[in-house]
Amino acid sequence: MSRNQRLRLRKVVESRTEASRHLRSPGDAVLVDRGVPRWLLISCPCGCGEELPINLDSRAGKAWRLYRNPKWGLSLFPSVWRDTDCRSHFIIWRNEILLFGRNEDDFDDSSFGEESMPTAETVLAQIPTTGMISFSDIAEALDAVPWDVLRVCRKLVRSGNAYEGRGKERGSFGRKSQGQ
Ligand SMILES: [Zn+2]
Repeated sequence: MSRNQRLRLRKVVESRTEASRHLRSPGDAVLVDRGVPRWLLISCPCGCGEELPINLDSRAGKAWRLYRNPKWGLSLFPSVWRDTDCRSHFIIWRNEILLFGRNEDDFDDSSFGEESMPTAETVLAQIPTTGMISFSDIAEALDAVPWDVLRVCRKLVRSGNAYEGRGKERGSFGRKSQGQ
């Protein structure tokens, strides 16, 4: 991970055309909400000046999920990855923009705070003893922010209670039985 930036939610508007004038510097964001959240528009955190429209409405195709917490701010899942131009790749977690390098494996969860995470016990209870489950499925089941769950899962790996898949299975976790 190269560097982190703050996400600044400038405005909540009803129409996408109103959004642009509120996006002035990298990391500025505008939420388009018409009863349900439709779009999150972000001024690309890399500084290229591009406006990134992030679809939040699953009826309109591939959608991201926005988590709004009055205390912690905005989190977004999954990551945003531009496959053209600047190729920016980042996640939004608690109003922070965590920029990736070229590789998803650069994801460094050490920058995450400990507060208000689901407990290790709660997460472990979702991990099966046979087979694996992805952290996003655990998050869905717990109604938690996936990035929070991923961090707890990796902690369970470090404490020897779980293992993480490799390659394409990365991000999926299985439970380690005692003495294994
Ligand atoms: Zn960019």
